[in-house]
Amino acid sequence: MRGTDVKLPVWIGTSWKMTKTIAEARAYIEHIATAELPAGIQPFVIPAHTSLAAARDALPAESPVLLGAQNAHWGPEGAGTGEVSMRMVGDAGARLVEIGHSERRQHHAETDETVALKARAAVDAGLMPLICVGEPVDVHEAGEAIEFVSSQVRAALGRLSSTEVSGVLIAYEPIWAIGEHGRPATPTEVAPVVSELARVAREVSGGVGCRALLYGGSVDEANAADLLLDANTDGLFVGRAAWTPEGFLRLAAIAAEAAGVP
Ligand code: PEP
Repeated sequence: MRGTDVKLPVWIGTSWKMTKTIAEARAYIEHIATAELPAGIQPFVIPAHTSLAAARDALPAESPVLLGAQNAHWGPEGAGTGEVSMRMVGDAGARLVEIGHSERRQHHAETDETVALKARAAVDAGLMPLICVGEPVDVHEAGEAIEFVSSQVRAALGRLSSTEVSGVLIAYEPIWAIGEHGRPATPTEVAPVVSELARVAREVSGGVGCRALLYGGSVDEANAADLLLDANTDGLFVGRAAWTPEGFLRLAAIAAEAAGVP
């Protein structure tokens, strides 16, 4: 369990990335909806756009699980072939929207500027931005992670008011830690970076801080509890280890244990 300064709830969420048909999405959501989710946590699931509405329809109204979208455009509507707007993903059931994931920065032309535009558009559409930041391996090895992610997060929040920043989720996801070739960051590697992100968020929000700071990158059942020991880490953002409902529920139980709510 974390110290007495623990901030509740402990967030635990997954992006399904480019996995799951509509039927698979429905089965997953029905599984976690019938399980009793522990107290003290804020669960969230981010399906692919194609199964967002089906996930919403499978989720009972009283469920604490928030749904999100993996991306959306900053423009309101119009000539954006292949894109969806914030309003469209909200209409399909999203309450939050993932912005700036490193896979999108690397392969889909996401930049600090488009991340900032999307954060602005998300807030305007009544969605919670989940802003992902993280450094590549060479920056990590050069000992420059803090400067790198701090600059990413300042850029991402640049179009929001201080009050709006307090509603934002930030995920620290070092690129070298993500995916099947990644190695999970150790709590010692995560702590100084998350501490700096917490400091920046407090600074730009007028002292309040962002809504929650999450760590992501090869989180699994073996390392989740240790990663949650850090007082600045308010939760975990998980890929592969939560792609089955059983995995998600086991991680939710670990997060609840960290929350220390009986
Ligand atoms: C991610 O890509 O955001 C992620 C956390 O993936 P994984 O947990 O599979 O490393």
